[in-house]
Amino acid sequence: MRKKNNGSFGLLLGLVIVIGGALFVYFSSMFERNAPVVTMSTSEYWNLKKPLDIKIEDESGIKSYKITMKSAKESKTLQYEQLITPEKSLSLTVKPPRSAYTMKEQNIKIIVEANDVSKWNFLEGNSVRKVFTFIIDKKRPQLSIVSNSYKISRGGSALVIFRAIDKNLKDLYIEGDNGKKFIPQPFYKDGYYISLLAWPVKADSFKATVVATDLAGNVAKSYIPLYLKNRAYKVSKINISEKFLQKTANLADQFPETQGETDPLEQFKILNGAVRTQNEELIHKLSSVVDKDEKINNFKINHMHPLKNAALVARFGDHRKYYYKGDYLSESYHLGLDLASNAMAAIKPQNSGKVVFADFNGLYGNMPMISHGLGLYTIYGHCSSIKVNVGDEITKNQIIANTGTTGYAMGDHLHFGVLVQGIEVRPQEWMDRQWIKLNITNVIKSAKKIINRD
Ligand SMILES: [Zn+2]
Repeated sequence: MRKKNNGSFGLLLGLVIVIGGALFVYFSSMFERNAPVVTMSTSEYWNLKKPLDIKIEDESGIKSYKITMKSAKESKTLQYEQLITPEKSLSLTVKPPRSAYTMKEQNIKIIVEANDVSKWNFLEGNSVRKVFTFIIDKKRPQLSIVSNSYKISRGGSALVIFRAIDKNLKDLYIEGDNGKKFIPQPFYKDGYYISLLAWPVKADSFKATVVATDLAGNVAKSYIPLYLKNRAYKVSKINISEKFLQKTANLADQFPETQGETDPLEQFKILNGAVRTQNEELIHKLSSVVDKDEKINNFKINHMHPLKNAALVARFGDHRKYYYKGDYLSESYHLGLDLASNAMAAIKPQNSGKVVFADFNGLYGNMPMISHGLGLYTIYGHCSSIKVNVGDEITKNQIIANTGTTGYAMGDHLHFGVLVQGIEVRPQEWMDRQWIKLNITNVIKSAKKIINRD
């Protein structure tokens, strides 16, 4: 009896040890069964300049790794390491070998092999072998300026046509000042692009550079040679009248921003500050839209004169500083032309286009906005009525609205604004037949001449 008892106890103990051992092996990190995980941030194109960022991770710890570069002709170890202290995560920066720079081959493989310290697999551990294939592209995009307006004035517009060639082209834009990116559109024939440019009236200088990047990270830049013509804009001190304040008080009712504020001077500050900013942001957002895939074959624009027999009542670019009884209140820039003729006069843009906005926009009142293509937009503020709807395609002689006093306007007039890719520009240029001929029509004509020779 005793003996038997001992025997079954021993058996039980043995069983507990075996099961316990098996469970320990099964659940212990020492016997972890997952192979290391390899990831790489570089995409499938590589310019052999940027080092490869490779990450290896493992639960139990990485024991060793090896990185090999393989082409059809050779195999080269780029990095190999046997870790003294195992690491759970390794971030590696791997440079290509010197010989790679002169390599002719366009397809290579990067092979990452790694082992972990797990005792699984009869103490061998888990291993991984991951293959990444790369297309080698060491060539920068080819860039050249084909044709451009001779000059750009402060607050004004210009046109550029250029060529950009790269079989792996990724991104193409024109870098202006303060991080502004102009978006070019395909032009006429493959590899050619066109874009309008704008020098913001508030910026002291202007510079524009075409930037092309490819999928492998190669970058090419080409400076656009424009003659810069600075212009002085008027700075005026405006003393606010009682009539003006009355208008402010009437207008203040329409805005949530001025609710609860009863002092007309404070109301004016809010309208000319926060409300103006918000109204301009909407205009900038709507007029920044450019269809980068739409091909431009020609760009015909008539000189703009939206109001017949109009008198100019305020210029573009006026920097207005407002005072009340000698005290400074606030300031703003007038970013359009104010034109006046009869009350409720008909507004004709004189150009075809598409209506992108036809609603009330704060200080601008009822304001249709027309897209003329190539990132060129026009706005018509303070209208008494709007005769078009968003999405309408308008024709050359169509009446789109009538002048009025909606928004922040003292008398019946039209606030006429022109924008290039979200930047207000001098309407006078676009109202000048000769300016359009020199800066738009002729630039396109001479570019086509050059392109046709190719
Ligand atoms: Zn105005």
